[in-house]
Formats: sequence, structure tokens, C-alpha cells
Amino acid sequence: MSFPTEWRNPSLYINGIFTGARADRRFEVFNPADGTLVGSAPDAGAAETESAIAAAHAAFHGWSRQTANDRAALMRRLYDLILVHKEALAQLLTTEQGKPLAEARGEVQGGADYVLWFAEEARRVYGETIQANVPNKRLLVLKQPVGVVGAITPWNFPFSMLTRKGAPALAAGCTVVVKPAEHTPLIALAFATLVHEAGFPPGTFNVVTGSDPAPIGNALLTDARVRKISFTGSTAVGKMLMKAGADQMKKFSLELGGHAPFLVFADADLNEAVKGAIASKFRNAGQTCICANRMLVQREVASEFASRLAEAAAGLQVGPGTLPGVAIGPLIDERAVRKVQDHVEDAVAAGAKVLCGGSRVEDRSGNFFAPTVLLGVTPSMRVMTEETFGPVAPVLAFDTEEEAIRLANDTPYGLAAYAYTRDLGRAMRLADGLEYGIVGINDPTPTVVQAPFGGIKESGVGREGGKYGLEAYLELKYVSLGL
Ligand code: ADP
Repeated sequence: MSFPTEWRNPSLYINGIFTGARADRRFEVFNPADGTLVGSAPDAGAAETESAIAAAHAAFHGWSRQTANDRAALMRRLYDLILVHKEALAQLLTTEQGKPLAEARGEVQGGADYVLWFAEEARRVYGETIQANVPNKRLLVLKQPVGVVGAITPWNFPFSMLTRKGAPALAAGCTVVVKPAEHTPLIALAFATLVHEAGFPPGTFNVVTGSDPAPIGNALLTDARVRKISFTGSTAVGKMLMKAGADQMKKFSLELGGHAPFLVFADADLNEAVKGAIASKFRNAGQTCICANRMLVQREVASEFASRLAEAAAGLQVGPGTLPGVAIGPLIDERAVRKVQDHVEDAVAAGAKVLCGGSRVEDRSGNFFAPTVLLGVTPSMRVMTEETFGPVAPVLAFDTEEEAIRLANDTPYGLAAYAYTRDLGRAMRLADGLEYGIVGINDPTPTVVQAPFGGIKESGVGREGGKYGLEAYLELKYVSLGL
């Protein structure tokens, strides 16, 4: 793999210094495609996190008072450095996380785009003046950075989630302590070397890795100097963090689980719907929180859609992400494979029919699961009630638009929903009626840096991306000035 060997066994990044964990403790990182050892990361806990928080807190005063232009200039330099190292970062990402190299390149570019977007947005933070009710007062609204931010990132998009949180925080004038997921610590520490090279002041951006998230998370949640937690991960952990942070009334941005419905109406362009379903369902081997999880298809076209989808899915090449032509890489670990297998077995036992795939790929040593399409599923099967987080597309038939919307909304989740239709009125009714933070109509890939990303219900709190992503790191201060 062509990335610097130093990236295999990196150090923590605290207060602008690369340093080991206490007693030089480390934990190993494995390639999910073949189980081989990639390298190791420092195994930090509460003490190292406390040092990082202290550094971020000390740096906040100076960083928050730099001009937006100066902060933007550093971020622009960071953007350029990411692009210089784009290929190496993508290779590391595929090695550590498993996704096909083309997707890894896309993620690194997307991650860089957040840095550029927020570098530009940094200069566009505007306050307000309000009409006073007496002549000798002036009422002002100031926007100020919230303070030290704890950013907890997931393994499925370990690079772009780092920048989707880190970039707006830094742009707003906050300082950051990042805790990457234990499966993917290396990409975050590689990113830290670029932050360092760009010349950010010591303590503005810190990365603490560990094999056990709990002590690091606890340190972030119980330290009053940390004013905000930005988390992307499971709903269960998100709820736990929010409860723990309630004591200090920390601010939260939470991007949690999804259970996206993918609606196909009989009036849709079926070719486009199949292409869209492949793009939405099988990206990152189905391990994205906005992945289509439930295919709801109008009865007239359900079996045709399912068989076309199965034909397309069966044609997706499964293998290590570094092999040319591979579209489906390994799942992150054995536990993930078992969960997907359980979901498929549960559906089959209750009468679903496997149109393609249906099992792990036995002739490969890694965590590979064959792209799977199931027909004849019912709403009570686990594939229809839980997030599968794997390459499984269950197809359920519906009759009417009202039924489709009701089925789509019948979940505690509310992150992303998709629909295919050529009827403009229906498209607008779906946009109105689907209880989701993101709705893609005839669009399977709605995520862009300039738009708000986030969910409602148990899928989370707050939005990342766009101007909204910056607001999440700003507090309003109202000043009433007597003259
Ligand atoms: P998944 O099940 O997809 O791995 P998680 O919610 O467990 O999702 O992980 C998302 C992120 O949350 C990771 O960085 C993980 O280390 C972190 N995490 C998990 N448990 C805790 C915890 N108790 N405190 C802080 N962070 C945690």
C-alpha cells in the first residue's frame, strides 16, 4: 500500500505534540479484508484525554480571538495539504476500513470539501442589531464560538466525519478534542499530521485514540471545560452520551442511526430506480447511516424491480477494496457479518425469498457478505425493523401512496428517505409527508457540503454541513447597550 509507513504506528496529537499513551500502551489495527495487521495506535484513556482537554482549553482564548480571515487561511492550507496527500489517505482508509478505493478517494475529497467550505463560511458569521424600544439603547446579537468541543467519530466514514465536525468547529473559533472509533484510529492520526503541517496553533486540534471508548468518553462528558459534544454513531450510544452530558447542560450534535425507506412508485423510471437503489444501498457495503434499508415498491412493479435489482446486485464484484473493479468491500468485523447473517436468516425463516446472495462469501478470508436481495418480506421481520448495516435489500410491496408513506414513517428513526416517481405532485406530497431530515427524490446521493445533514426522531439532534453546520458551533449572545 502506498502510504507513509509512519502512518501505520502513529502517536497521539496533543497540544501540537506527537506523543505516546501512558506506559506506551498501544492497540492493534487490522485490515478487515484479510485480517492482517495494519499497525497500531496509542491506547489512551482518561489521563491523556484530560491533557488534550487542558490543551484545547488553553488554546481557546487565542484561537477564538484570531480573525476569521486568519483561521480561514490556515484551513485553506489544510485543504491543500489533504489534496496533496489524497491518494495516500485513500489507500490508508481502504486498508484500515475496507471500502473500495474509488469510494475512499471520494470520501477523502468529500472530507477536504468540508474543510474548504467551512474555511469560506468562517468569514461569513454575521451578528444582528435589533430595534430597541427606547431611543437610548442599542440591542446587539453577537455570535461566539461555544468553546472546547469533544468530537466522537465513527468507523464507517472515519475521514469525512472528522472534517465535517472539526472544520466547522475550527472555523467558528472552537478548539477540538477528537476521539476516533477504535477500528479506524490511523486515518485520524494521519490527518493530525496534516493539521500540524498546516501550522494550526498547539492545542487547537487534538486527537486521542483508545481501544476502550468509555474512559475517553467519560473524560469528555464530565469535564466542564468541554462545552459541546458532536457525535456520529449508534442511537444507543448517542442516547447514553446525551444523558451523561445533561448534568452539565452540554450542547449536543448527534448524528445517529437511520432506517431509510426507499420508495419506488409504478410511475417511476425503473432503470433509474434500480441504479439509485444500487448506489444508495450498496455503497460502503451498506454500512452508511443514510443507506436505503427498506425497499418499498408499488405492487405492480415490485417483482420486476426486485428481479432487476437482484440482477444488478449479483453483478457487483465483492473483494478487497484495493482490487480494481471491486464494488463491495468487507464489512468492518465478524460481528457485523453475524448481524447481517442473522437478519437474512430471520427473514428467510419467516418466508422471504432470496433473489441473490444471502450468505457470507466463504471463499474469502475477510468479512465479506454477498450483496443480497430479498423478496416477500413483511413489516415485522428484523430487516424491516432494525438497521442492518450491510449489503441486504429487502423488498416489500405496497398498494397506495398513503400506505407507502405510513410504512415509511413507521419507525423511531428519521434520518434519510428516498423516493422514485415522475409525478410532480406526488414528489411534493412525499417531500411534505416523509418524516425525515433528508429526503432524496429521484436522487440516491443527496449529501453535499453546502446542505444540512441530520435526522429527526431517534436519528439525532442538529445538522452538519452548510451554514447550519457552522451555527452548531456558535452561541448567541444578546447585548443590550444603554447609551
Ligand atoms: P457502532 O456500533 O457502529 O460501532 P458506536 O456508536 O458504538 O457505533 O460507535 C461510534 C463512536 O462512538 C465510536 O467512536 C465509538 O468508539 C464511540 N463510543 C462507543 N461507546 C462509547 C462510550 N461509552 N463513550 C464514548 N464514545 C463511545
